[in-house]
Amino acid sequence: MNEQQPIIVWFRQDLRLTDNAALHHACQTDAPIIFVFIHDPELAQKWTMGAAKQWWLHHSLASLAGNLKHYRTDLILRRGATLEVLENLINETNAQGLYFSRHYEPYQAGLENKINAHFKDILTIKRFKNNLLVEPETVLNKSNEPFKVFTPFYKAAMATLQVADPLPAPNEIDAYTATIASDDLDAWQLLPDETLWGAEFKKNWVPGEQGAQINLDAFTMHALNKYNILRNRPEFIGTSRISPHLHFGEISPRQIWNDVIHSDKGSEPGNESYLKELMWREFSYYLLHYWPDLPDQSFKDSFADFPWQNDSELLNAWQHGKTGYPIVDAGMRELLQTGWMHNRVRMVVASFLIKHLLIDWRHGEAWFWDTLVDADLANNSASWQWVAGCGADAAPYFRIFNPQLQGEKFDPDGIYVKQWLPELQHLPNKFIHAPWGAPAPVLQEAGVELGKDYPQPIVEHHFARERALAAFETIKINPNASA
Ligand SMILES: Cc1cc2nc3c(=O)[nH]c(=O)nc-3n(C[C@H](O)[C@H](O)[C@H](O)COP(=O)(O)OP(=O)(O)OC[C@H]3O[C@@H](n4cnc5c(N)ncnc54)[C@H](O)[C@@H]3O)c2cc1C
Repeated sequence: MNEQQPIIVWFRQDLRLTDNAALHHACQTDAPIIFVFIHDPELAQKWTMGAAKQWWLHHSLASLAGNLKHYRTDLILRRGATLEVLENLINETNAQGLYFSRHYEPYQAGLENKINAHFKDILTIKRFKNNLLVEPETVLNKSNEPFKVFTPFYKAAMATLQVADPLPAPNEIDAYTATIASDDLDAWQLLPDETLWGAEFKKNWVPGEQGAQINLDAFTMHALNKYNILRNRPEFIGTSRISPHLHFGEISPRQIWNDVIHSDKGSEPGNESYLKELMWREFSYYLLHYWPDLPDQSFKDSFADFPWQNDSELLNAWQHGKTGYPIVDAGMRELLQTGWMHNRVRMVVASFLIKHLLIDWRHGEAWFWDTLVDADLANNSASWQWVAGCGADAAPYFRIFNPQLQGEKFDPDGIYVKQWLPELQHLPNKFIHAPWGAPAPVLQEAGVELGKDYPQPIVEHHFARERALAAFETIKINPNASA
């Protein structure tokens, strides 16, 4: 038995054994290791974990605990205020070290400072860079300030980017053998009442490291080489569906980057396009690091006076996929059933909420936060602000998607719409993105009574477009201003 004082490896957004620098370096010492995950629901305050992500967390922790069992060690679960939980654990075990991965959400960064101040004289604290390719401090413009626009950020980041090889999972782990109290995962009650919602999640996802690698392997094998073409087509599995795994750190961006560049199935345009999307994630984290208000405040101040209408009935129709615009409704129903939505459709539904319904982007952000299994503070807030036109490097405010044309362009055969809106499955393709335009006999033959089986549009597109443009005029945005 190893008599040394143990090292605590504190799992956070890095629920993996492969390419986990905190774990790897702890294993390089002679000390026995204790693994802990802390559920601290109060920490994030307003941004406490949404329901879909709680489902994921439950299964991801179960998977991690199962993987640790192969090394004959346990995952200790504790619930409560992080600082207090760590203090108790350190006192109980007389630990000599605390190893963890850097976390980039604003309240987590604050917590890291507190931990350092509180424990630095008691034990060795080591924080590892584990979840980004580009640490925010390493990329600044010529005036030593953070970039606000993606392209110059991307160019500067790529100029110096060095992606290390992923670290292997440990061969063996010297586990701490004394008994330590742990919560029962089920007692955390993270799972939803499946009779109400969430029953389909398990058909779509395998949370945990193995599930992440399966998704990535399938993607590199079958879709990477055409990613630049198929990434906008929601009816195909043309993207990697890695986002929830990446969010929870079940796979590292280093691993993904390396797998992609070393894949013999890729293509230059496919790889380039995919790696660029990973860099958009880096940019979101970068923005959140420098502008911690990103989830709560429009980046462009002028939006503070935007005349939102925030009609709760319209919001409800949008949330439940009942707007009468098939591509919007299909996306919102995919989200409710699977906890995920294709990126192209996320852009369309977000634009519809903000511009067609004049509902504040923060309502959409909050709904996504609760219902996405990949809800990510950085990516979600940066993306909503991008669509709204109020973000750092945002889509121009006057770009108002026409949902019918978006559907016709990106789901030309209506396959995606029919998958999520079975009530429209007999409608001919010609009308699948605009059922309101179908002649009465066509609707009758398809078994669709508008207003009964499927809604009439809740707002007319041309009216909505003009209204949105007029609303944007009132805040007098200079479309060329970056912030
Ligand atoms: C309104 C809106 C809200 C969004 N909310 C989230 C969110 O909460 N969490 C989240 O991870 N992504 C979010 N995105 C970005 C994007 O839609 C998802 O990352 C992507 O759909 C995930 O699917 P995938 O893993 O198959 O992506 P792939 O196309 O396979 O891309 C691989 C990875 O690159 C990153 N990525 C891809 N596109 C983007 C993007 N536009 N911005 C930033 N990173 C990107 C993601 O980490 C993604 O997993 C949002 C986009 C919009 C328009």
